[in-house]
Amino acid sequence: DQSLAQVDPEVADAVAAELARQRGTLEMIASENFAPRAVLEAQGTVLTNKYAEGYPGKRYYGGCEHVDVVEQLAIDRAKALFGAEHANVQPHSGAQANTAVYFSLLQPGDTILGLDLAHGGHLTHGMRLNYSGKILNAVAYHVRPEDGTVDYDEVEALAKEHRPRMIVAGWSAYPRQLDFARFRQIADSVDALLLVDMAHFAGLVAAGLHPSPVPHADIVTTTTHKTLGGPRGGLILSKEEFGKKINSAVFPGMQGGPLEHVIAGKAVCLKIAAGEEFAERQRRTLAGARILAERLLRPDAVEAGVKVLSGGTDVHLVLVDLVESQLNGREAEDRLHGIGITVNRNAVPNDPRPPMVTSGLRIGTPALATRGFTEEDFTEVADVVAEALKPEYDAESLRGRVAALVRRRPLYADL
Ligand code: PLP
Repeated sequence: DQSLAQVDPEVADAVAAELARQRGTLEMIASENFAPRAVLEAQGTVLTNKYAEGYPGKRYYGGCEHVDVVEQLAIDRAKALFGAEHANVQPHSGAQANTAVYFSLLQPGDTILGLDLAHGGHLTHGMRLNYSGKILNAVAYHVRPEDGTVDYDEVEALAKEHRPRMIVAGWSAYPRQLDFARFRQIADSVDALLLVDMAHFAGLVAAGLHPSPVPHADIVTTTTHKTLGGPRGGLILSKEEFGKKINSAVFPGMQGGPLEHVIAGKAVCLKIAAGEEFAERQRRTLAGARILAERLLRPDAVEAGVKVLSGGTDVHLVLVDLVESQLNGREAEDRLHGIGITVNRNAVPNDPRPPMVTSGLRIGTPALATRGFTEEDFTEVADVVAEALKPEYDAESLRGRVAALVRRRPLYADL
């Protein structure tokens, strides 16, 4: 049997080039991470060949005895790690996990209340072009202009006015922790279900560095590839009473055969996430984000028109507001790309520029923490970012500093 390079050199070359890109640049997209070799291996196994519609012990195909072991391990580990009563590890992605939750507990036309996309919410929280916004009646809450934090009074007022069937708490771009108890209380006051989408901060929750939404929410969804650091995929945790409905919404409601090779990767990542090394990595993730925020709050950055939304961070990312900078989001993203730092531009609340341009950046630290970056390394990264956002900057010298950091912390040395 022939290797990938033999069968398809074009694909093999692109994969090799991507490995070189990941090794040679500073990955600071807040939703990305580097899956450990054990997870990559699990995904590259013969489990990819197996049809296993159904759930462990209740399959519609023969020969599932070994994938049953794998999927049950993933389920048990997810429940244990997050203290959940029920887990479904089959969603192919975070978007599918959220859609399955809506499909299981809501009817078309029901009202949901979620964070506005432009204020940090996710597409699946009711954006008008997303399935959630098309099928459901989506109402959006916002962050407060004064301090960039969720306006709970508005959430409460909108809940009373619109009587949503479900409130969605969670975010893709928000630098602070949410008050889950407050969300629960608001949901209870209007008899709504509470879904928390912890896709971004699941790794912090696993490490005990962020409050857990599990005791407060009816359902918790997550991806497994962001701070959690595993394979691309989704996961749904819930109270036992919703377990059956969730399972049948995922299969046969939305999906056919589960990706058992990816589920194997999820099992491995959940095992890793229960360990001390993982917690230590998440602590460096948080420290890195804090160091970056503090650097961008210093007078020279402020003078360059850089602002830090909410004045800092409690999580793995920093939101940079460039409304007063001469750089827009796209230019800032390109400039950082030019010196070897990958970030994504991001709309700030009430952004004066169009979505393809934006006036902000979202900068995250999970991938660099996985790469072994220490507080000292993050201090250097933060300084490079701050220098790059100034009107006058020395691209050549910053490129050299990025190259030195990249050499100091090799990535995937044994691949
Ligand atoms: N939920 C949140 C909060 C996210 O940030 C994301 C990813 O960007 C998703 C869900 C969707 O995950 P996926 O890209 O795996 O569909």
